[in-house]
Amino acid sequence: MERSPAISALFHLRMISLVICLGATDIYFIRNAYHATVQNGASVQIVFGFEYAILLALVITIAMKYLLHVIDLQHESPWENKAIYILYTELVTNFIRAALYSLFFIVMVKIHAFPLFAIRPLYLALRSFKKSLHDIISSRRAITSVMTRCPDVTPEELANMDNVCIICREEMTTDCKRLPCNHVFHISCLRSWFQRQQTCPTCRMNILRATMQQPEVQQPQAEENVQQNQQQNQQDQQG
Ligand SMILES: [Zn+2]
Ligand SMILES: [Zn+2]
Repeated sequence: MERSPAISALFHLRMISLVICLGATDIYFIRNAYHATVQNGASVQIVFGFEYAILLALVITIAMKYLLHVIDLQHESPWENKAIYILYTELVTNFIRAALYSLFFIVMVKIHAFPLFAIRPLYLALRSFKKSLHDIISSRRAITSVMTRCPDVTPEELANMDNVCIICREEMTTDCKRLPCNHVFHISCLRSWFQRQQTCPTCRMNILRATMQQPEVQQPQAEENVQQNQQQNQQDQQG
């Protein structure tokens, strides 16, 4: 859905019916496992119950992502905030998974025995929760520091340089930022790029480290940079 340009009505129908079908099945089995455990005491149903709950969390994530893509399709221009909403969706799902595995672990230790087989999924769930938290924090930090510490690029400068943004492959005319490594991109493209990695798309320079060394934007310094860049560009063109 993310890649293909045209989504048919049949695709939506299949997607929605599959999500409802899987969700309902999971809820049914979770209820069954719960009632069996309440009526007959601890059994293998506890293990299954938790597995169904984790699958239900996965179905909900997929439904959320599908909704976000549908909203994105309604937008004429690319939807800037989609990437951050997807990151938050992943954060919540990973949190639910980590919480469910931890709860399962505690329940098993209390009533039965040490669940050796659950150590690996518990570890993986905790690790992906930590990673999604880290992703959100560092992408926010990268966006903030680029917005406050990197100079804007004027339309005149853009006219005098190679002004194709390598993230979206479109021409840059307004709303662009110059990174500390002198590479220039659309602000909106940088926002979505930083959701996944906090490096320059061209030279892989670490944005967080580089912008921290830079003071907050002051106009004279920005202009100086600009002049240097123009000279460099002219040299490049001559070369
Ligand atoms: Zn762009
Ligand atoms: Zn760069």
